[in-house]
Amino acid sequence: MARINNILKGKCPKCETGAVFNKQGNQFLAIPKMNEKCPNCNHKFEVEPGFFFGAMYVSYGMTVAECIAIYIISSFFISSLLKIFILIVISILLLSFVNYKYSRLLWMYLFTKKVATS
Ligand SMILES: [Zn+2]
Repeated sequence: MARINNILKGKCPKCETGAVFNKQGNQFLAIPKMNEKCPNCNHKFEVEPGFFFGAMYVSYGMTVAECIAIYIISSFFISSLLKIFILIVISILLLSFVNYKYSRLLWMYLFTKKVATS
């Protein structure tokens, strides 16, 4: 449960203290800027070239899940399929910045072992 909380807060997957994204990354409707290394433990986030290529698949999965959720929820209120489609397209564009951030965080948490702190 603490890991999920740290993913949501954007903490480093290794030490779970340093921030992965710098402050500009928290702006609404802006591509989040990633720190190259953890400010706390100096862990390099992009462990190898192209490491975040796989995060695209995570982002794709998140987008599909969001589309299905938006479709199901909006179909209760909107009867026109065209209006639902437009709503989904707008939502995808707005959520793409959030997906970018959390797909990278999820990808890093999948492949980075946490350092035991005692
Ligand atoms: Zn760290």
